[in-house]
Order: sequence, then C-alpha cells, then structure tokens
Amino acid sequence: MGKDYHEGVCSFCGLPGGPERRLIEGDDAYICEMCISVCHQMINMGYLDSEEEVDEPDFQVDLTPREIYQKLSEYIIGQEQTKKILSVAVYNHYQRVKNNLYENSEIDIEKSNILLLGATGSGKTLFAKTLAKIIDVPFAIADATTLTQAGYVGEDVENVLLRLLQAADYDLDRAQKGIVYIDEIDKLARKGDNPSITRDVSGEGVQQALLKILEGTIANVPPGGGRKHPHQEFIPFDTTNVLFICGGSFEGIEEVVKTRIGKKTIGFNSASTARPSMKEIYEKVTHQDLQKYGLIPELVGRLPIIASLHPLEVDDLVRILKEPRNAIIKQYQKMFKMNGVSLEFEEAAIRAIAEEAIRKNTGARGLRAIIENIMLDIMFDIPDNKTVSKCIITEDVVLKKAAPKFTKKRVRTA
Ligand code: ADP
Repeated sequence: MGKDYHEGVCSFCGLPGGPERRLIEGDDAYICEMCISVCHQMINMGYLDSEEEVDEPDFQVDLTPREIYQKLSEYIIGQEQTKKILSVAVYNHYQRVKNNLYENSEIDIEKSNILLLGATGSGKTLFAKTLAKIIDVPFAIADATTLTQAGYVGEDVENVLLRLLQAADYDLDRAQKGIVYIDEIDKLARKGDNPSITRDVSGEGVQQALLKILEGTIANVPPGGGRKHPHQEFIPFDTTNVLFICGGSFEGIEEVVKTRIGKKTIGFNSASTARPSMKEIYEKVTHQDLQKYGLIPELVGRLPIIASLHPLEVDDLVRILKEPRNAIIKQYQKMFKMNGVSLEFEEAAIRAIAEEAIRKNTGARGLRAIIENIMLDIMFDIPDNKTVSKCIITEDVVLKKAAPKFTKKRVRTA
C-alpha cells in the first residue's frame, strides 16, 4: 500500500513528515500541515497585512451612544444611568478598535474594560449579553470562581477565550473583537486587608492571570480546552480588542465605603434613617474601595469604568414582566395564541407575581419560575379544550391558585 504523505523534513519547523504531520512539497522545499495552520492564523491576525489592504469592520461601528442606549432600552428596563455609561463606554471601545485596526493612527487609545456592581439577578449578565447583540460581536460568559491560575485544579483563564472563539464559530478575527462577561469577580478578592498575612493565593493568582488578558496580550488558547492534551497546538489569541465586562455583588463593600466616608452616613442622601441603600452604596464605590475590598491594584486599574445596578423593586419587576421585547408575559401570550387562545394578565395579578419574587429575594431571575408554577395546570389543559377563546389570569390565580377566568368561543348552532 502506498503512503499518503511525503517523507522529508518541513523547511519551516524542521520536523520530519509522517502520518501525523503531512508535508506539502514545493520546489526544493516542504511545509507541514502544522506550519500551514500557523501561517493561516498569522494572516488572519493581520501580521502580513499591507497598509492599503483594509477590510470593512465586521461589527456595528456606526451606532452612536444614543442609538446604543435606545436599543438597550428595548431589552432592559430602568437602570438609566448605567445604560448611559455603558452606551458611551462600548461606543468608545469600538471606535478605538476601528482606529487601531483600520486607521493606523499615531495615537494609541487605551482600552477601558468595565466593572458592573449589582446584586444577583439585577441584570449584569443581561447588560453584557445585550451589548454584544447590539454591536453584533461574539459573546462569552465565564464564572470567576471556576477559574484557577495555571498549575491548580480547575479551569484555565485561557478557556474563557476559547469560549469566545467557539461563539465566533472559530473565526479568530471576529473572536478577537468580542465581549467577555466575567461574573463573580468579587469572589477572587483577597480576604482581609493585610496582603502578607491573609493572602488568598489562588484568588490572587487568578486575578494576576486575568489581568494579563484584560490588559491585552497574545494568549495561547488550547483548542481542545484545558491542559489534558499537552501536545495540542495552541492558538495565538490577541486580546487587545476584546472588551471585558466584569461583574460582582461585592457583599460587604458597604463597610469599606462607610469606613472611608465616615460612619455617620455623611455624604449619603438617606434623609432620616442611618442605613443607606445598596443603590447609594454602589454609586459611591471608588477604585480605592475595590482595592481595600481585596482586588489587586493592577486589576482595578484595568477596570476604569465602574457602573452600578440598583436592586429591582416591585415596580421594576412589573415592567420587566410586561415591557421588554421578549418580556415573559409576551412569550406566554404567543404560546397561547398558537392554541387560538388570547391570554390576559390582570394588573393586580402581575403585581402579585412581582411581590412574590421580591419576597423570595430572587430578583428578576425568579419571575419565570413563579409564572411557570402558576401556569402549569392551565397549560396542561388548554390544548385539549377547544371551546376557550380567552384566558384571564386574576390576582386569585396567583395568590390562591384559583382557576382563571375563561371566555368560551361562540358556537353557532344550525
Ligand atoms: P445578574 O447577572 O446580575 O445575576 P441577570 O442578568 O442574569 O442578573 O438577570 C436575570 C434575569 O432577570 C435576566 O435574564 C432578565 O430576564 C431579567 N432582568 C434583570 N434585570 C432586568 C432589567 N432591568 N430589564 C429586563 N429584564 C431584566
């Protein structure tokens, strides 16, 4: 049987050819498939670009901050100040990307990653995901608590970039302009104030590893993930143009802020009570506070934009149920419509659902589970019942599990 590869040595890397490393023969030279792959990546990363060859940007560069803000408002209720801050930040980031990639400018604009402060379920992930959708760039989420520094058991920081590459269907060029959301960044904080005694080695190690990719580096991304395949070829991934959005609830930061400002609520707006709300606390957080909380100064320095999300109240949840483009109630109405039934929620019922979510302390995240629970029996029966034309969810359906009000179809008798 003949061999389907050339015998010889790759003229680029000097390694011998074989079934695992097939060679292509040229005039007096060979190149192996590994080197072809590296060359391909170098071309994709623009190492060989001549000055005249300029591609059109493959993301939404033309949106102004106001337009980004308006699009955000289609999906996100309230949080107006944060919407503004993020619209400007994301606009500036992609202007910078355009400038760096396409305009060969003398002045290098530095990258500004973003830190989002807010309780669980207050919409941090939603913000990051929606921004990626608006700008039309790949998006990946990572949980900081699962990451470890090299050499420890857990997930490598580089795997975050692999996820971005996967989200871009392995289009390296597009992945390198994507958005990464890193959740629970606060859990990496060093415990306590004194770095030398109470140093939390693994958390700080991850902060160091994150710092590198946040500030912009060529990271080696393992295409198969993890370190299980030591011989795999790494993909060089340039993070210079990746926008990182980090999020966390920073429980206990109020103590840091209060200590700095003074215990007696000086500077807080709360008129009578001595306890400022988390909204007021988050708005006051400075870079020094974050450092005091336990983030390393270099990492804090790489997150120049701080925005905060206030905890959602009943009125916000009512709006979240009804208003966004893909609001939960709209989704249910669509499902019922497919069975020829129009679905209505009385205002008091919607309010009762929102109040239930507040009681359970689940933020907006708990809304779907609450509705799911209420609707189960109704959704079980409706497809069999051909006589119903309208279903009205009243407050009693939510609070007392009463039956909804039904309107029957008019049946014409001969
Ligand atoms: P976090 O990342 O802060 O824990 P999420 O972004 O996962 O919170 O939010 C949970 C869910 O709550 C989202 O999927 C979204 O449906 C809803 N939600 C939260 N805040 C808002 C908001 N301001 N407007 C619309 N939906 C929201």
